[in-house]
Amino acid sequence: MIIVNSKNKISELVSQLKQEGLKIGFVPTMGALHKGHISLVERALEDNERIFVSVFVNPTQFDNKQDLEKYPRTLERDVELLKTVSDTNIVVYAPTVEDIYSDNVNSTRFDFDGLEYEMEGEFRDGHFDGVGTIVKRLFEIVNPDNAYFGEKDFQQLQIIRKLVEKYNLSVNIVGCKIYREPSGLALSSRNERLKPEYKKTAPFIYKTLKAAKKKFGTKSAAKVTEWVKKQFAKNELLKLEYFTIANIETLKPVKRKSKHKKYRAFIAAYADDIRLIDNIALN
Ligand code: AMP
Repeated sequence: MIIVNSKNKISELVSQLKQEGLKIGFVPTMGALHKGHISLVERALEDNERIFVSVFVNPTQFDNKQDLEKYPRTLERDVELLKTVSDTNIVVYAPTVEDIYSDNVNSTRFDFDGLEYEMEGEFRDGHFDGVGTIVKRLFEIVNPDNAYFGEKDFQQLQIIRKLVEKYNLSVNIVGCKIYREPSGLALSSRNERLKPEYKKTAPFIYKTLKAAKKKFGTKSAAKVTEWVKKQFAKNELLKLEYFTIANIETLKPVKRKSKHKKYRAFIAAYADDIRLIDNIALN
C-alpha cells in the first residue's frame, strides 16, 4: 500500500498512472474508516485500476471547533482496513492541513444554486463552502476519472454534482448506496462515540424513515412530517433537529406531491451530543 502525505507526490503518481493508461477512481474521506467507506472503495475498484483514498479531517467544513477536535483520527487502523480490500491497487493520500491549505485555512464562497441553504446548510454554517473548497482542491490534485460519494450524505452528493457542473470538471460522480448495520443504523464514524443506551435506540432513526416512506404513499408531506415529529417527541433519548421531505433535484421541501418528481426524506437528530443524519428514497 502506498501512503503519501504530499500533493506533489500524488500529482507525480497520477501522471505516471495516466501515462500507463490506467483509470483512476477517487474516494475522499475524513478517515475513521468503516464498512460504509469500504463499500465505496469496493465499488470504485469495479470501475478503475487504481483507487486513491484521501484521509483528511477538513477543518473548513466544521462550524463547531469541539466537533473538529473530537473527530477520530485513526490512520494506522484505516490503512490496515484498506489493505484487506487491496494492498496493491490503493493509494492513500493523508495530507497535513498545511499541504492542502498552505497558510490560508479558509474556504471559498460557492453558489450551488440554493442547494447549500437547505437542511444541513441551515444548521451548519459555512459547511458546504468548506466541502466545496476541499473537494475541488482534491479533484485538482488527484484528477480522477471517477469519484465516489455516499448517499448517506445525499445533500453533499448533490452539491458535488453541482460543483462539477458549474466548474465543468472532468470527473464522473458516482453516488453509492447507504451501508447499514443489521439494525438499520447507517454506519458513521460518529457511531463509535455513542454510549450503549444511545447505540441501542439509534436504529429508531431508520425505522422511522421506513415508516415515513410507507405513509408518504397515501399521505401528504405535511402529515408525514407531523407524524415523524410526534414519534421523536416520544423518544426520550433522541432529539430531532429536522425532518424534511424534499425534491432530490432542488432539495427544497415538497409542498404538493407530483408523480413526475423524485423525493427523499431526510433526518438529523442528536443522540446525546452526537449528531446523526440519515435519509431514504421515497419513490
Ligand atoms: P466521511 O469520512 O464521513 O466524510 O465520508 C466519506 C464518504 O463516505 C462520503 O462520501 C460519505 O457519504 C460516505 N459514507 C459515510 N458513511 C457511509 C455509509 N454508511 N454508507 C455509504 N457511504 C458512506
